[in-house]
Amino acid sequence: MASIKENTTIKEYQNFVEEVYGLSNDRHFNTWDMLTNIERFTMRGLKGIRKKDTEKTKMNLIIASSWFMSLMNQLHINVGDEVWKRFPYVCSCCGSCPCSCKEKKINKRQKIFVDNDKKPDTLENFQKMFEAIYPSKNRNIEDAGIHLAEEIGELSEAVLAYRGNHKEEDFNKIKLETADLFSCVMGVFNSLKLNVAKELSITFSNNCHVCKKAPCECDFADVIKFIS
Ligand SMILES: [Zn+2]
Ligand SMILES: [Zn+2]
Repeated sequence: MASIKENTTIKEYQNFVEEVYGLSNDRHFNTWDMLTNIERFTMRGLKGIRKKDTEKTKMNLIIASSWFMSLMNQLHINVGDEVWKRFPYVCSCCGSCPCSCKEKKINKRQKIFVDNDKKPDTLENFQKMFEAIYPSKNRNIEDAGIHLAEEIGELSEAVLAYRGNHKEEDFNKIKLETADLFSCVMGVFNSLKLNVAKELSITFSNNCHVCKKAPCECDFADVIKFIS
């Protein structure tokens, strides 16, 4: 039985997605299918924000995150490593914690010092790190949602550029956008005051949350039934 524990690391979460959905993803979905599903479920989550329906937002963002992890598995990107490189307990732009981009009117990225001793061990502690860098009291949830949508657009653009050019620098852009998107997912959950790791451990207590198998054997009709 595959499950996600409350004290999961980002790597363990990514490995869980591979164990449960890797086979089905390899057989049924290409990069564009995965990006479309990341977008599809995130947009459903944004609808939840507009309707002030926390359950809808939470569930759809959890499913969108599974697709996101699936895409990262396909591209062989270690999400935790990229997040830490981009956000080493400071804002990726101004280099401070909490972020002071607005007060200091910073619009050019500052050189960032990385102190590896501060690296969070678990997903929960990564979420807390993002709350420290970008306190949710400084924004409303609608803004957090818009920022998340922006980052999905930027990830899609980076994947399109890389698939066109096959250049290392374009692949590096995908890694940066991966970290930015992850930070925005944490931002929305921080605005909702929900612990992502805890919610994942409830949803994924026993293999796939719909068919309860590992590897997942859902067909498209099952998934539609589940989310409708
Ligand atoms: Zn900043
Ligand atoms: Zn399934």
